[in-house]
Amino acid sequence: MYPFAYTKPADTAAALAAGARGGRYIAGGTTLVDLMRETVERPGTLVDISGLPLDDVRDTARGLRIGALARMADVAAHPQVRSAYPVLVQSLELAASAQLRNMATIGGNILQRTRCTYFRDVSAACNKRRPGSGCAALDGYNRSHAILGASDACVATHPSDLTVALAALDAKVRLLGPDGEREVALTEFLLQPGNTPEREHDLRPGELITAVEIPPHPKPLRSGYLKVRDRQSYEFALTSVAVVLHLTGGVIRRARVAAGGVGTVPWRLNAVERRLTGERPSQRLWEQAAEVAAEGARPLRHNAFKAELLKRTVERQLRTVGGTR
Ligand code: SF4
Repeated sequence: MYPFAYTKPADTAAALAAGARGGRYIAGGTTLVDLMRETVERPGTLVDISGLPLDDVRDTARGLRIGALARMADVAAHPQVRSAYPVLVQSLELAASAQLRNMATIGGNILQRTRCTYFRDVSAACNKRRPGSGCAALDGYNRSHAILGASDACVATHPSDLTVALAALDAKVRLLGPDGEREVALTEFLLQPGNTPEREHDLRPGELITAVEIPPHPKPLRSGYLKVRDRQSYEFALTSVAVVLHLTGGVIRRARVAAGGVGTVPWRLNAVERRLTGERPSQRLWEQAAEVAAEGARPLRHNAFKAELLKRTVERQLRTVGGTR
């Protein structure tokens, strides 16, 4: 570790002022402290926002609002979340470990950084950690890396399970900064690497995530999250799929499907959604929809298996959530 300053503001205004002076926000610290220990990140000042009143979970006219400082475990246990959004609960409960879920916050989960081993090895070339230095993963061992949304500069996946469920729920991120409040769709908030992989999100200097909002969905709503990984616990996804379906009269009126473990950001499977909408559930439909799940995939040397695994994960989770007749 190296020397750094620490401050714990008494209120949101003081936190924003400290953030505007260049301070780095910290709450649960489950990602940032690790990265500081490994000297991947070296913030000069930590602004501890864990005491701010941003941990509520409640219904509003705009939908379900989840405070950015709500802990993962608390959100997964919340009665409103459990009754309305199984996909959210499952994505939270399949992530990390129980100890980490007790510490980690919703805002921090969205902002967590990639698990690319070269990113965390300060001796390796990494455009995300040191822009312009190259990407060791391109010619290195890239089994866990992205097949969708990658660039020549970076092929790292976004590691979060929660954001995959949030993408399928059309969630929005509420932000507060020196210029006031604003709202961004989660799928636009997290950025694909392009030529600037060091820019991972649309967070402006000094801004805080205050909440995520899930807009009202038509009822009845079926949903679920499936995570495929090398071992059954405390492991990141090779592929994962969040499915959200609205059916009436035996017909799929609306479908939302997102994938994790395969993209540089949580990846909405628009072609799958189009294939499902207006159709009646059947095993044949699930297979046909899954067939287009990996459209546009560009596998690397060690991860071509992910395209087929993604299709199978989609098919299985559509069957689980949608059933068959
Ligand atoms: Fe760095 Fe991205 Fe390459 Fe990993 S994939 S080494 S994070 S540039």
